[in-house]
Amino acid sequence: MTQDILITTQGQAGRITLNRPDALNALSYEMCLAIEEALLAWRRDPDVALVIIEGAGDRAFCAGGDISEMYRTGTAGEYEYGRQFWRDEYRLNAFMASYPKPIVSFLHGFTMGGGVGVGCHGSHRIVCETSQIAMPECGIGLVPDVGGTYLLASAPGRLGEYLGLTATRMKSGDAIYAGFADRFVPQDEWELLKAALITTGDVTAIEEYSAPAPESELAKRQDQINRYFGGERLGDILNGFVAMPSDFADASLKVLKRNDPLAMGATLEILHRLRMGTPTIEKALELEYRFTHRAHEDGDFLEGIRAAIIDKDRSPQWTRKLEALPLVDVSKMLRPIPGIKLQFHQEETAMKIGFIGLGNMGGHMARNLASAGHQVTGFDTADVSIEGVSKAGTAVEAAKGMDVVITMLPNGAILRAVADEILPVMSAGAVFADCSTVDVDSARAVAEQAQALGVMPVDAPVSGGVGGADAGTLTFMVGGSAEAFDKTKPLFDIMGQKAVHCGPSGNGQAAKICNNMILGVTMIATCEAFALADKLGLDRQAMFDVVSTSSGASWSINAYCPAPGVGPTSPSDNDYKPGFAAELMLKDLRLSQDAASSADADTPMGQLAAEQYRQFVEDEDGQGRDFSAMLPRFVSRRRS
Ligand code: NAD
Repeated sequence: MTQDILITTQGQAGRITLNRPDALNALSYEMCLAIEEALLAWRRDPDVALVIIEGAGDRAFCAGGDISEMYRTGTAGEYEYGRQFWRDEYRLNAFMASYPKPIVSFLHGFTMGGGVGVGCHGSHRIVCETSQIAMPECGIGLVPDVGGTYLLASAPGRLGEYLGLTATRMKSGDAIYAGFADRFVPQDEWELLKAALITTGDVTAIEEYSAPAPESELAKRQDQINRYFGGERLGDILNGFVAMPSDFADASLKVLKRNDPLAMGATLEILHRLRMGTPTIEKALELEYRFTHRAHEDGDFLEGIRAAIIDKDRSPQWTRKLEALPLVDVSKMLRPIPGIKLQFHQEETAMKIGFIGLGNMGGHMARNLASAGHQVTGFDTADVSIEGVSKAGTAVEAAKGMDVVITMLPNGAILRAVADEILPVMSAGAVFADCSTVDVDSARAVAEQAQALGVMPVDAPVSGGVGGADAGTLTFMVGGSAEAFDKTKPLFDIMGQKAVHCGPSGNGQAAKICNNMILGVTMIATCEAFALADKLGLDRQAMFDVVSTSSGASWSINAYCPAPGVGPTSPSDNDYKPGFAAELMLKDLRLSQDAASSADADTPMGQLAAEQYRQFVEDEDGQGRDFSAMLPRFVSRRRS
């Protein structure tokens, strides 16, 4: 094995020493894999009570990932080396965060980038007089990664934005304040503490050696940081520097001018997205990876390394301008990557899952659950085979004795029929999760029936389409009890990137139809505006460039542009093959209008959208076309 890392067991501890002091213990791919292998072996080893991780030499715990090989391969057009490195490194970072035994990291000197990934996610993170911790990635054209955005998003106020964008180095008190470290232990006590940990295998020794941390300078500046770094976009932050001149504003602006605008814009976006729900390291890594996967080709990562490490001229030529960063570039960097989902080590709690309805959506979802290690039994009235999923002959067979049963069916009537069949044979305490899009009344009726039989119901419709089901990046909108939500959440996290608990049974469907009513309306508005723009002689690309960054922006134009050849790739670029078929949009709009009638809600735009899609699907050529094919429809029509 390489001497760059020393892995031993001593007394009751597993001990990992990063051993490249001349390279500030920079983390190579090989070292990452070696750490993961050791942690996997110690996870169930009764002789290992805790893990110590430390860096050799005086200057650093670990000053970052070793990116020289990424540069060499990247400049040769071989991007897979870097991508594989990141995927494996991120799996290690998440593993350390959920490791079942204490991991005690000793963070002296520099702990940066990749060093934060192996040093700051464990359970006990110790700092000392020399500690300097930072996430400097924006300086080399990357977003803070290795789960750094999880720590940044969890830091007080807008400190995460400040640290991520400026790469400010935290001393020990700051690192504890920001949530990157836990305890201050004077460095001359470290060997004694390590010896105590090795002998006793008990982390309470850390308390004994801890001393009060020096005061945090960042804590004193928190209000100022919140004021300047609270903006939604990079442009808002820059405007704040101008509107509220101060030494702090000048100093911050100077740093922002050095860093990559695209990486900074994406960092802000990731932090904001993470804070929209409860941040988790897995979600953070997924978002970070979307950027890093594209960083060689579509970002300025290679230029960033060239300037910082290869030529050391420290004057990177970034592609985007700080004052004029196109938001669409940021959203492109953070779009899901088709066919790639990060794999994390699962806790050893494989569930028995029945999956009923293995169509366009359900087939992918069931496959993703199986490939994450769950035992999945599937049933569909059509004869389908899904990789990793055992076939059941009946719905009852797929439901009996399962921990969770998931349905992904065409409509409410079929859902009710299937529920009648399977609920009586399901185990008490099992979860029945319906992910189909159905009417709120069916969802609530099935939920009542389940509860009466001791089964926990959730209605969990999805958005994200077939692409999202395949890539495991769906959004789940969930109605049901908190207990049922918590039990099903790990499965949603495999099949999707976000699950929102919307309240009691039926509320998931309510959220879904409200969302899709907005989508139907905005898609029509976007398509008719493009058709009008055509007739006014406005170029479609110019229209996109303006609207996607102005107040007319919406998911319909920014992420799913109905005009072929404009914006990110969407079904319009594939002759409007669905994606999301117009008849499914019609179904959802009808559900919203039925719900509006029974709730006595006035939804005139939803009603109009439903009628437009009805005409398109039933009277015109819309059946079997993507719902964005409204654009050629409007183009071919005249004002009546
Ligand atoms: P689909 O028609 O491809 O799949 C439905 C599957 O259910 C089919 O394979 C069918 O054979 C099976 N089925 C029908 N009756 C059954 C029964 N009694 N027992 C077992 N299996 C039965 O449809 P889909 O696109 O996978 O959509 C499924 C659900 O997801 C729908 O409610 C849809 O509105 C919703 N949805 C779809 C999309 C999308 O983009 N396709 C996006 C979000 C939500």
